Amino acid sequence: MAFKQLDLIDPILKALVTEGYTTPTPIQAQSIPLILEERDLLGCAQTGTGKTAAFAIPILQLLYKNKTEERGPHKIKVLILTPTRELAIQIDESFAAYGKHTGLTHTVIFGGVSQLHQTNILRRGVDILVATPGRLLDLISQGFIDLKFLKIFVLDEADRMLDMGFIHDVKRIITKLPAKRQTLFFSATMPPEIQKLANVLLTNPAYVEVTPASSTVDAIEQSLYHVDKANKLSLLQYLLKDKEIVTALVFTRTKHGADKVVKFLHKNEITAAAIHGNKSQNARQHALSHFKSGNLRVLVATDIAARGIDIDDLSHVINFDLPNVPETYVHRIGRTGRAGNTGIAISFCDAEERTELKDIQKLIGLNIPVINSHPYPLSNTNFSTPSAPAQKPSPKRSRGFGSYDKGKSRNFSGGRRQSN
Ligand code: AMP
Repeated sequence: MAFKQLDLIDPILKALVTEGYTTPTPIQAQSIPLILEERDLLGCAQTGTGKTAAFAIPILQLLYKNKTEERGPHKIKVLILTPTRELAIQIDESFAAYGKHTGLTHTVIFGGVSQLHQTNILRRGVDILVATPGRLLDLISQGFIDLKFLKIFVLDEADRMLDMGFIHDVKRIITKLPAKRQTLFFSATMPPEIQKLANVLLTNPAYVEVTPASSTVDAIEQSLYHVDKANKLSLLQYLLKDKEIVTALVFTRTKHGADKVVKFLHKNEITAAAIHGNKSQNARQHALSHFKSGNLRVLVATDIAARGIDIDDLSHVINFDLPNVPETYVHRIGRTGRAGNTGIAISFCDAEERTELKDIQKLIGLNIPVINSHPYPLSNTNFSTPSAPAQKPSPKRSRGFGSYDKGKSRNFSGGRRQSN
């Protein structure tokens, strides 16, 4: 299917050509016609599936078609609520890209920076507002934002809102929306509280689902290194000798851990920067843009800071620490292997992370292939990985250093994947 077959208007088709998009992703092919029919939508999809364009394109089209002459500043007609600043900026950039020939106006607001620039734009009026919950509530209470004229509300990454403790803010925001509106609700997973919220928010919704866990996992070559905690930095340095690692996004559990990794890499003349909650918004954007442009080889991030960052052609994700929440593993490795590309995800596991590993393997339904031949093996080798179907290592990609220990895998029939 081509975008042309989705009945899109020329100003949008023209922008998609500039973006180099020809074929809609599955979530786009399913959602665009439903949103254009002005249906409410419940979308089970995560970042990396093309979700942003799946809602941004039809929203722009609906607004463009219903455009009327407005006296004075434009009123906010669309609100997109998303959990992180990085996601908010990316969504706003998507509206800018797909909507550049529509004449519609948009802006983004988020906390951690001065509000002056944001309120100046809001005073001039916008059609589309992208926001994180805290700053939105703040500016509503200061009288800078009026949602009376809202037609479309998008709740993005609802499950993350819950994880990050924003659910009460979200509920407060919902009380400020007009009852008559179109609502689009996106979440990667559907825990009961999120399901309940969806039931309250949506009226007779259409349901679309793409199975991110299985498709993401399928596209990515995963490997696991058992290593003592004290040797993780040395192992990272050793792996980065591989020139095939052009760019790597390294995940640590803590902000302090991220800074420690960066300091170590600098000492070893590897370009790196950290993004986490203690860094200013400007420092985070600066690091991200240097990483995207190839000036930085390694970006070290904590989960919250990295959530949703969109980097094309990221070759490697390295889990320096395993996440406590198994779904986070899928979110993390989904930073590579974007839009149908393959990617490589390397994970370190120390003796204290066995439970996390067990939970991750249970969720993804496979044993991550173990690389045993490396210079920093675990000092206590009395370690057994829990049973799960094994993943067939892809022959297409370099395995980096060492080789797979096939003894740990029950079979290589590939096969079953479990979606969440
Ligand atoms: P998202 O899930 O919205 O974060 O999108 C993931 C990535 O896919 C982004 O880099 C988009 O620019 C890209 N993308 C989205 N839709 C398409 C498409 N139809 N064709 C090619 N790339 C796309």
